[in-house]
Amino acid sequence: MTHRRIPPASFAVGEHGGGSGGGNDGNRGDRDPDRDDANSGDGDDPTGEDDTDRDDRNREDGRSERAKREPMTVRPLRDRRYVVETDGGTYVVALDAGTCSCPDHEIRGERCKHLRRVAIEVTEGRIPAPDERVGVCAVCGVETFVPFAASGPRLCERHDFERGDAVYDRETGKLLVVTRVTARRADEYRTDEGRTIEAYPTNAAYGAHEPVVEAVYAESLGPAHGIDDARRYGFPASRLVPVDVARED
Ligand SMILES: [Zn+2]
Ligand SMILES: [Zn+2]
Repeated sequence: MTHRRIPPASFAVGEHGGGSGGGNDGNRGDRDPDRDDANSGDGDDPTGEDDTDRDDRNREDGRSERAKREPMTVRPLRDRRYVVETDGGTYVVALDAGTCSCPDHEIRGERCKHLRRVAIEVTEGRIPAPDERVGVCAVCGVETFVPFAASGPRLCERHDFERGDAVYDRETGKLLVVTRVTARRADEYRTDEGRTIEAYPTNAAYGAHEPVVEAVYAESLGPAHGIDDARRYGFPASRLVPVDVARED
């Protein structure tokens, strides 16, 4: 399991994604002459584009720049939308619908700087995507983005495990291989003996709220005995530490 973000392609920040229209904000003095313009090579091209196209493009570039640089505070709401606070006002953006409550969008139908800013912050992982919420890692408490519908304890990227990860047990020093990270807490998950993982004395030093990680002992594996054949054991997540050295068979 991983919380690594797959950039949501539908929210990609297009440099020239908007329509044309009568925006009045394309010529402010805050443009950086050496900005990384995706079309910077176009200047001398005999493209034959007319002045209207060029004006539209300049306005688009200006809007993209302001989306990146202007001070704005973006906060996710609980209904998949975002509040964007700027010096000029506070607006509500619905990223999946592509709408914003500002006049630039509502009246002129532009892909405004607020929409762009939200898309940028989502893509860069600074705020959750519309289908995500903020979760807290059960081991270190760091905030991590999790699917909205997900329940159960969560782990951040640093403390999460993948199936097949080699780990050491902090209590015994034994080598194990992770088979899965469960969505159950150490005080919920019961072993075959009917006890919770938390109830075992060897787990006293680990959090009852941590997700249980299932693993098999490396010594129980063999050429004809893979991780699905071996007996699985549950551990509080922080009891297992990744082995960073490459394994040899
Ligand atoms: Zn807007
Ligand atoms: Zn963590």
